[in-house]
Amino acid sequence: MSHSEFPHLLAPLDLGWVTLRNRTVMGSMHTGLEDREEHYPRLAAYFAARARGGAGLIVTGGIAPNRAGWGAPFAGKLSVRGEVPRHRLVADAVHAEGGRVCMQILHTGRYGHHPLTVAPSAVKAPIARFKPWALSGRGVLRQIGAFARSAVLAREAGYDGVEIMGSEGYLINQFIAARTNRRDDEWGGSYENRMRFPLEVVRRVREAVGADFILVFRLSMLDLVEGGSEWQEVVELARGVEAAGATIINTGIGWHEARIPTIATMVPRAAFAWVTERLRPHVALPLVATNRINDPAVAENILARGAVDLVSMARPFLADPDFVAKAAANRADEINTCIACNQACLDHIFERQTATCLVNPQAARETELVYRAAPARRRIAVIGAGPAGLSCACVAAERGHAVTLYESAAEIGGQFNLAKRVPGKEEFHATLRYFRRRLAVLGVDVRLGVEATASALEGTCDVAVLATGVVPRKLEIAGFDDARVLSYVEVLRGAPVGRRVAIIGAGGIGFDLATFLIHEGHAGSLDLESFAADWGIDLAHAHRGGLLPGHAAPPSSHREIWVLQRKLTKPGDGLGKTTGWIHRTDLRRRGVRFLAGVGYQYLDGAGLHFTVDDRPERLAVDTVIVCAGQESRRELASDLRGTGLEQHLIGGADRAAELDAKRAILQGAELAARL
Ligand code: NAP
Ligand code: SF4
Repeated sequence: MSHSEFPHLLAPLDLGWVTLRNRTVMGSMHTGLEDREEHYPRLAAYFAARARGGAGLIVTGGIAPNRAGWGAPFAGKLSVRGEVPRHRLVADAVHAEGGRVCMQILHTGRYGHHPLTVAPSAVKAPIARFKPWALSGRGVLRQIGAFARSAVLAREAGYDGVEIMGSEGYLINQFIAARTNRRDDEWGGSYENRMRFPLEVVRRVREAVGADFILVFRLSMLDLVEGGSEWQEVVELARGVEAAGATIINTGIGWHEARIPTIATMVPRAAFAWVTERLRPHVALPLVATNRINDPAVAENILARGAVDLVSMARPFLADPDFVAKAAANRADEINTCIACNQACLDHIFERQTATCLVNPQAARETELVYRAAPARRRIAVIGAGPAGLSCACVAAERGHAVTLYESAAEIGGQFNLAKRVPGKEEFHATLRYFRRRLAVLGVDVRLGVEATASALEGTCDVAVLATGVVPRKLEIAGFDDARVLSYVEVLRGAPVGRRVAIIGAGGIGFDLATFLIHEGHAGSLDLESFAADWGIDLAHAHRGGLLPGHAAPPSSHREIWVLQRKLTKPGDGLGKTTGWIHRTDLRRRGVRFLAGVGYQYLDGAGLHFTVDDRPERLAVDTVIVCAGQESRRELASDLRGTGLEQHLIGGADRAAELDAKRAILQGAELAARL
């Protein structure tokens, strides 16, 4: 047997009546497929791919135990026998691939987006539209009964167990915390009373399903909200959950309403493993560490420290269903790494679309985006090795085509090479490593530093795919031919920038540039202590909720930065739904100023002149950085027209407006799947 780089990660875990084949848990993540019966075959195919790729224990997205527990009207639920067959599809598909799967029972309580929500007390969540109904004593018992019944039905459906969602600010958490539980009966008041609900749920579920059924309890170990639990309370709850019959304790970090990033890309890898490790001396059950673990070496390191038994990864299994198989085959460098962008997974859920993955457009579309062997091998030239070109070249080669990839720069990556320089976006290095390795494994002929011309392509290929990307938009504003005016490309490549800066354009790139300038090369994403200090996280968990009391905003930058836009909307409005608030908060706290409704006039020795609401304004700035979008680069298209070659345009070359890596990678893959 060959030596493994990841012996702890790949070690089986014996639970007594069942053995998990390794230490990975595919953590629960809502895809949207759970909510419609007709989508269950697709959901089953999605999980089957992860089981085939070696995931140790899969946990489904949240399934409500009753209507009151719905996340949204008609969300996935298991409360009646008629709902069992669709779940059986999932359990059977995972078992057919040798995997194990637990169904997560999620009662959202006051977080539900519907008017029937219930909670311990009628206290509306800051992120919810509806005020919940306070449960009566009998109502509390009915919710507990619903958990038990749902677990029994899950067992009937063939699941190996259930995960009881006790964290992230959902119903169980709402009972535990005094901030949401104002009751004065036996379910509220003292901590002993507030913890009665989760303990009764675990006890009743165990009683109902019997001994040989996995019961994972996801316990909120760090609430990150005012009035959250103290560490001693976390310990007490964990002990109670163990005594009540749980099999495994999983970790929850942060309520959804917390204003601290817990999973986004600027969170350091494995930033919260220490929380789970602290629980080790207090319980004997297997413990699961979570959040921003996206790499087998990081996972191995946590497990090798010996305090936790399993690592949970949710998004990394979207990004690469074969994560474990590749790690086991010593091919970890071929893993398509989750970059924690949330753009195609969580942001989609918030926009009511099915989740998929920016770096893996097949995720949750396994039955729709299929890469079949090409009927005939064709010579395909892909011009441009940015996200669109890379994606297209790899999928075309995977299907058996002979692919040549031309790139005029000295390295692959296109705009990714700019993005990776922004503090907090270091994960793009992993995407580039993945593509570099994938091109080599697939035998793509990569020609760097080569400007492909129509005459050179003619006769050497059957199909030309133009992925030539974009050029930054130049602005025709008087005085902008001045040396003080720079494009974002020049700045990210190291051009010197003065102390007083105006950034023109408040899109993703304007925000990235402001971030680049205020952090001045120091990335909190690579340094847990400075990340924790920036966001007020108490690394000693000595204070309630894990929040540092009286936390002061991080120091302002020595630069004065203004970000300008013409629109009247809130600057940064177009950023990702689940990450935009982090960028807006970070910049505002460091003193970056925003101006909307700007009419640009001219630049002269006195500075940048413009109007706001028809009022003349001037900023005496040293540097103006233009982040005003891009234009397509596709001169080659007209040259090629004369050759009669089959040609396709993808990515920014096709459409520059609202271009992002998600669309580029998807478009490249979809085209390659058809060629
Ligand atoms: P963008 O989001 O379209 O923003 C362009 C900005 O330039 C807007 O604020 C626009 O605001 C301004 N603008 C456009 N034309 C202008 C003109 N003629 N004169 C002056 N201002 C003008 O584009 P981007 O920032 O270049 O980003 C490109 C793509 O990359 C986006 O689709 C974005 O989603 C993606 N991206 C995403 C992230 C992320 O973190 N998710 C980060 C970077 C980039 P006004 O028209 O109101 O002035
Ligand atoms: Fe990870 Fe982004 Fe894919 Fe979500 S969309 S799984 S965050 S890479």
